[in-house]
Amino acid sequence: MKKFIKILCVIMSVAMVVSLASCGSSSDDDTLTMATNANFPPYEYKEGENFKGIDVEIATAIAEKLGKKLEIADVEFGSIIGGVQSGKYDMGMAGMTVTDERKKSVNFSTTYATGIQSVIVKSGSKVKSVDDISTMVKEGGKIGVQQDTTGDIYASDTEENGGYGENNVIRYKNGADAVQALVSDKVGCVIIDNEPAKSFVAANKGLEILQTEFTVEDYAIAIAKDNDDLLKDINKALDELKKDGTIDKIVDKYIPSK
Ligand code: GLN
Repeated sequence: MKKFIKILCVIMSVAMVVSLASCGSSSDDDTLTMATNANFPPYEYKEGENFKGIDVEIATAIAEKLGKKLEIADVEFGSIIGGVQSGKYDMGMAGMTVTDERKKSVNFSTTYATGIQSVIVKSGSKVKSVDDISTMVKEGGKIGVQQDTTGDIYASDTEENGGYGENNVIRYKNGADAVQALVSDKVGCVIIDNEPAKSFVAANKGLEILQTEFTVEDYAIAIAKDNDDLLKDINKALDELKKDGTIDKIVDKYIPSK
């Protein structure tokens, strides 16, 4: 009998471990996973092992309001939307511009920031305004962009649509690589969001941002189309964080002049 009880105990404890383990997967409900590309200062970047930046802090505040733990996945910008669509990540937050094309794949939260596409050149470049880019391209110069970003989409578009044609664009994995290509004269200019542009120019001598802005855009959080509850929760959290001044405070911390 004693032996039987012992065996029963073993069976019961195994069953408990198994059921705890299956609880583990539903404990995903306690986690908010954010896919980002942490090479986009001041919105997201890494300091050692730590994620920093405006998006990281806003996401942390949202997760707190939702009673969840924030988990960040650092992936290529171009794989964020697919990952959100497939449910691999709960949300994509990466200084991501709202576009009609992206709206076909994901839903966007309300806007929490504005971005500007800017042009970085080497000081003394012949490209002195956006209008000079087409001349540069005709003379064989290339435009550097971060792959799959709006800078890439605009620059790679056809001339009739206001772009410069795919053949005149070189795509890099991240903004830092595009800027290094400019430093080493592989490209004649880089089209990228203004705040990262400022960070890259500050970190590399002999570069400047053209005064003329390329275009103004809205940043928002990407959420899967079938995840309406999360969209509602995130919009509610964003609204509260806007109203109580948290978002302004976070932005001011990273972009003091604003
Ligand atoms: N705002 C740009 C876009 O959405 C760039 C974003 C990024 O490089 N992280 O395409």
